[in-house]
Amino acid sequence: MSSEPDAAAEARRSDLAANLADVRARIDAACDAAGRTRDSVTLIVVTKTYPASDVRLLAGLGVREVGENRDQEAGPKAEACADLDLRWHYIGQLQTNKARSVASYADVVQSVDRARLVSALSAGAVRRGRELDCLIQVSLDGDAARGGALPQDVPALADTIAQAPHLRLGGLMAVAPLGAEPGRAFADLAEMSRRLRESHPAATMVSAGMSNDLEAAVEAGATHVRIGTAVLGVRRSLR
Ligand SMILES: *Cc1c(COP(=O)(O)O)cnc(C)c1O
Repeated sequence: MSSEPDAAAEARRSDLAANLADVRARIDAACDAAGRTRDSVTLIVVTKTYPASDVRLLAGLGVREVGENRDQEAGPKAEACADLDLRWHYIGQLQTNKARSVASYADVVQSVDRARLVSALSAGAVRRGRELDCLIQVSLDGDAARGGALPQDVPALADTIAQAPHLRLGGLMAVAPLGAEPGRAFADLAEMSRRLRESHPAATMVSAGMSNDLEAAVEAGATHVRIGTAVLGVRRSLR
């Protein structure tokens, strides 16, 4: 094998480095504008549809948290990157029959939205001897088809997660409603997080904000932003 750096890989590396610098500057500016410290927001780079080679380049650029939304893709990618120091966030809608697989590589499951998923994730985590952080995905527009628990179902689901072996309740996750100004929805999420922490003080994570709306999310108090397109480029459609 040649030891010369592959030109295409080097070009990709410098693109990713430039995009990451832009995104980190946006997060820093949003923190400054909101009067928040810069280390109060964690960047999760969403690598879905992009290859393990990109994950490897990102790790070399200091990325520590990555997000994926399909088990079939995420499992092999996590395995190919097992030597890297990464935390894997599962952020997609999750079928119950995939939960055991996801529990074998994910560190955080952000899309828990029903009790049946909790027992399946717990069983998988116990079997693997792993601890999983779970976020409850909340529907901010009441449209269950896009995933997410209804706000009124959050307290019971939170208790179920908190009591499940090998699962920890980390907090809440949401996607801004389509076609609406995201600030209001993110403020609602922040209020739900405040209420959740009254009974679960350790559940401090608020995962909100994507490439187009990270500023609004940081302003509303997000602790984690999930950024794909702005780092890796526009995804090709999957199907
Ligand atoms: C794809 C995805 C993201 C990243 O979206 P971008 O607009 O590409 O930044 C964030 N969150 C979830 C749940 C996603 O599915």
